[in-house]
Amino acid sequence: MKPETLARIIKFSKDRDWDKFHTGDNLAKGLAIEASEVLELFLWQNDPTSTSDLADEVADCLIYISYLCDKYGFDMDEIVNNKLTKNEAKYPVEKCYGKSTKYNKL
Ligand SMILES: [Mg+2]
Repeated sequence: MKPETLARIIKFSKDRDWDKFHTGDNLAKGLAIEASEVLELFLWQNDPTSTSDLADEVADCLIYISYLCDKYGFDMDEIVNNKLTKNEAKYPVEKCYGKSTKYNKL
């Protein structure tokens, strides 16, 4: 995410004095609820009826993720790269290419 977008997200909350509601549990619950709204768009269908609605719900998830990262001092690029390094070790290409098998069953 671009730094200016992240700054805009943080400013949105600060301007409204909503940071006081951003406890860890509230942010985690908000993220789970928004993720459910993404899932709801796929209920009984393989693809959503509206990609615009999907984009809005994905954006809501990213906004909550941004607040979580801000609260806990996470650098998004750093934590994603750290996790990808772990995932690459768990899922070596030569063992998992073309398979959906969980790492402990490879
Ligand atoms: Mg939403």
